[in-house]
Amino acid sequence: MAVTPTVLIVEDSKFFASMLSRRIQDELGYKVDWKSTYADAVKIIDCCRDNYLVALLDLNLPDAPNGEIIDYALQKGIPSIVFTGNFDVEQRNKFVTWNLVDYILKDSNASVELLLSTIKRLHKNRSTKVLVVDDSRTLRDSVAMLLRTQLFQVLEAGDGVEALEVLEENPDIKLVLTDYDMPRMDGFDLIRKIRAEHSKNDLAIIGMSASDEEVLSARLIKTGANDFIPKPFHIEEFHVRINHAVEMLNNIELIRDLSYKDPLTRLYNRRYFFENADKFIERSTKSGKSHCVGMLDIDFFKKVNDTYGHDGGDEVLKMVSAIVAEHFSEDAIVSRFGGEEFCVLVSHAPSDNMVGAFDGLRQGVERASIQYEGQEVKVTISVGICCEPLELEAMLKLSDSRLYTAKEGGRNRVVGDPPSPNVRR
Ligand code: GH3
Ligand code: MG
Ligand code: MG
Repeated sequence: MAVTPTVLIVEDSKFFASMLSRRIQDELGYKVDWKSTYADAVKIIDCCRDNYLVALLDLNLPDAPNGEIIDYALQKGIPSIVFTGNFDVEQRNKFVTWNLVDYILKDSNASVELLLSTIKRLHKNRSTKVLVVDDSRTLRDSVAMLLRTQLFQVLEAGDGVEALEVLEENPDIKLVLTDYDMPRMDGFDLIRKIRAEHSKNDLAIIGMSASDEEVLSARLIKTGANDFIPKPFHIEEFHVRINHAVEMLNNIELIRDLSYKDPLTRLYNRRYFFENADKFIERSTKSGKSHCVGMLDIDFFKKVNDTYGHDGGDEVLKMVSAIVAEHFSEDAIVSRFGGEEFCVLVSHAPSDNMVGAFDGLRQGVERASIQYEGQEVKVTISVGICCEPLELEAMLKLSDSRLYTAKEGGRNRVVGDPPSPNVRR
């Protein structure tokens, strides 16, 4: 199970610290540790620094008035965000040269919003891969270091050819930062080749160059880059442009998630199923596998609603969905087709006994002890499956009619092809 991220707050104002803690806990669901002095903060950093996703540090503490806590936290390798009540250009320049995640002024409600979104983004960055492409080792290193302060997973390549190899091995790279002038393959060719495989909705590209060619940025963007950073750059500009690109991808992912997943069960919906089933089947066939469609329906679900209310019914739907998703956790599209009906498209070795696999699921649901308000709710499912090599539509129709046969035959059973007497009870 994923560990809940923890945020360390070092702040002497009780009012500000408790307001922040509450919002981090309520809005992000993260844990918070709060220390109000330098001495206490040092103690907890010494014992438990690996526990923290990020530290939010007040610049002025009663026992450390000149930002000593920032030096300490950074020395110990804790990603740190400084917040301060007073703005001063000299101090700001000093912060920016440190390996800080960010510094934020404590001046308004908007700055708390900024703080929250920065923390959330950092957590997400930990699983986000960024590829830096530059033939200069020194530049690559400094860009990689800046990206690591934002907790990204950083990969590096010395030119376009190497970059394509790294991308091939890591198809989940979200952002590519590329130089323009490189041996073997320049930035333009690289961007063109990446765009032939990855759309702007899946992968962002930012061009970087020291060239003073006037329209270079426009040309790179027209070729397929999302943005351009001139070299040398200001560190803050670098961070905001990177964050902007990553945030855009995260938002697209969120929109996709909302349009493809059912909000109650978090399973894929019908739309996702029909948009992706053909590709899924093609991949399965190419790798020498077979596939089956299983149509599932909870038995006498109306009774569950009548007995435990609609909320109880929802809880049962969630639990049954989780069991189905876990049973077919690999090589399958598990979707909620509507109400209490699910459709599973699963790819498998030709010799697999799929009636047996679906019957295993049926037994799993029958055995499950679903708890609702202190009571145990028992449910069963009926399943119709089709494994004959037919068009998807015909497979759906057949599995649907076999589901009907399963219901007619007394429910809590699997009907497959050919109908298997051993699992009809
Ligand atoms: P059968 O064994 O024949 O499938 O009987 P059934 O009662 O399960 O089937 P029926 O299709 O008659 O009833 C399904 C019920 O599921 C009706 C509907 O109110 C309820 N339902 C559909 N969607 C939801 C939902 O999202 N939440 C809850 N709680 N109930 C839902
Ligand atoms: Mg039903
Ligand atoms: Mg139904």
